[in-house]
Amino acid sequence: MIEVRNLKKKFGDHTVLESIDFQVSKGEVVCLVGASGSGKTTLLRCLNLLEMPDEGSITIGAKTLKFGGGSVRRNDIKELRRFSGMVFQSFNLFPHKTVMENIIEAPIIVQSRPKAVAIEEGKILLSKVGMLEHQDKYPDALSGGQQQRAAIARALMMKPEVMLFDEPTSALDPQLVREVLKVIEGLAKEGQTMVIVTHEMNFARRVSSKALFMDKGFIVESGKAAEVLTNPKEASTREFLALLD
Ligand code: ATP
Repeated sequence: MIEVRNLKKKFGDHTVLESIDFQVSKGEVVCLVGASGSGKTTLLRCLNLLEMPDEGSITIGAKTLKFGGGSVRRNDIKELRRFSGMVFQSFNLFPHKTVMENIIEAPIIVQSRPKAVAIEEGKILLSKVGMLEHQDKYPDALSGGQQQRAAIARALMMKPEVMLFDEPTSALDPQLVREVLKVIEGLAKEGQTMVIVTHEMNFARRVSSKALFMDKGFIVESGKAAEVLTNPKEASTREFLALLD
């Protein structure tokens, strides 16, 4: 479903991603782990072109985009973005809109869904993430965990083929982390394809089928999550995991 080949990204002279290759199959949950600054967020942002890669290619579904040979067409960018829904560390809800207004905005504007239909779909998804009773509240009346669950519902509203999570619990107080991880775990059980950047190793071991370990812009180890995150072969992976345990 997703195939990344020889992806490279620089910021100025600083190479942040080097020859990245990996695949994600339909229904697979892939976690992306590694030290701070290893390039995880940049890689995730490249998957929906919030960052433009310098070289390589990304295939999502039937669409392949190649980078490095001139600028990428706007329509191609739009088409590729349609496949993924992104959840950020910092929730990114519109502060002046209620939870329901936040989640129906894109389906109405981008996909021209009738408002009444969007609201009905919104209720189903808010109920799924345990947020239906908060549908009329503004973000500043919600806890971080509630905001993040609303942000997950908002991304799901676009019916993405793949959900991309960038450290979805790192901005949360410890007691709110579980409620968000539970929602993501529920999605995994339903077969939602996901790529998740996380430092929550127990969660990653439990939920992911595959783990990619990044170090200094390279994927240095990849394989079954249970193996990579429990018995890693590479010294850098072992050192990183030892720091977290
Ligand atoms: P963390 O776990 O701290 O979020 P990360 O593994 O996600 O780290 P990235 O955020 O992808 O790492 O950053 C990789 C490198 O790219 C870092 O050295 C960072 O400073 C640099 N970088 C990221 N975004 C930019 C940018 N927009 N401009 C310049 N440098 C950037």
